[in-house]
Amino acid sequence: MFMSELAYTIGVDLGGTNLRAAAIDRSGRLLDKIAGATNFEEGRDAVLDDIAAAINQLRARYGSAGFHGIGIGVPGFINIEQGLIVGTHNLLGFDGFPMRDELARRLNTPVVLENDANAAALGEKWIGAGRDVNDLVLLTLGTGIGGGIISGGRVLHGYVGMAGELGHITVLPDGYPCGCGNNGCLEKHASATAVEAMAKLVTLGDNLTAKDVFHLAEEGNRNAQRVFEQMGMALGIGLATLINVFNFPLYLLSGGVLPAWKFFAPAMMEQIERRSFTFRNTKTRVEPATLGNQAGLFGAAYLPFLMQKLTAGA
Ligand SMILES: [Zn+2]
Repeated sequence: MFMSELAYTIGVDLGGTNLRAAAIDRSGRLLDKIAGATNFEEGRDAVLDDIAAAINQLRARYGSAGFHGIGIGVPGFINIEQGLIVGTHNLLGFDGFPMRDELARRLNTPVVLENDANAAALGEKWIGAGRDVNDLVLLTLGTGIGGGIISGGRVLHGYVGMAGELGHITVLPDGYPCGCGNNGCLEKHASATAVEAMAKLVTLGDNLTAKDVFHLAEEGNRNAQRVFEQMGMALGIGLATLINVFNFPLYLLSGGVLPAWKFFAPAMMEQIERRSFTFRNTKTRVEPATLGNQAGLFGAAYLPFLMQKLTAGA
């Protein structure tokens, strides 16, 4: 009886090394989670088999009566209309692959495909730090910088689906070269990787992780603290632009660099104050996100519910 009344979806977060799938109910309660590794060396079919197996395992456990669909977050650009992953470096064999339709065929149920950073932003909006607003931006500071824009409660996609590539905003015209072809992209100056590169540059050490640099900063190492100040400056310049463009109430930051907040936030806020008239004259908030690396999983699970909501409201 209970099973048939349980409305749930399955969210999948597919990364370069990890595969996570979770059954989540309509209120955002995590029912069950499966975590495994992805091995793209084994080929595309093997990865698709793993995804389908995880989904089927959860679906078998919670039944088909209350099942409301599947949402998948993947790294890379997504062509939303065609359900393709375009230009992905992390997912070997998936570039240009019709992921959405192939999984829908294998699982015999509709699938919603979304960029992982967009899914994370949606997760924060649904049950995270953005619960109380309809408009927010999420920046995930990791190896690169992922961005997601939620406008009016839904993901802002642009006309192809490539909107929200906020890591590639120029913050320094002649800055470090980026894989995207530009110089001085935000992610080249404010990601965890950027922190590591800057640490090397100021001769803190050759193979330090962002976490190591954070610990040095904690111990009072001035150069380590300066690295975070530089990073905060770049982040603040990028955020000032976003605040001026969107006038949203909330800008969230997540990712492994977040524990260093006290070292980078002052420089970040100083730049925002200085460069954004909108910020100075509104109650705009810049805050840490709250769902951590679970945000993408929850956001992916929310996709089918959101789709139903939008279809019902149309
Ligand atoms: Zn770039």
